[in-house]
Amino acid sequence: MRVNITLECTECKERNYISEKNKRNNPDRIELSKYCPRERRVTVHRETK
Ligand SMILES: [Zn+2]
Repeated sequence: MRVNITLECTECKERNYISEKNKRNNPDRIELSKYCPRERRVTVHRETK
């Protein structure tokens, strides 16, 4: 049930992280607060396709 996802910064659209999630627990796109190295601050990162 675990799938690989890419996390994209919602502000600058940079793809900063590769992660994985459990499809059963998180069937929808997930959002996480993560550090964006481009902006040098924490922003919301969203799962991309
Ligand atoms: Zn960013």
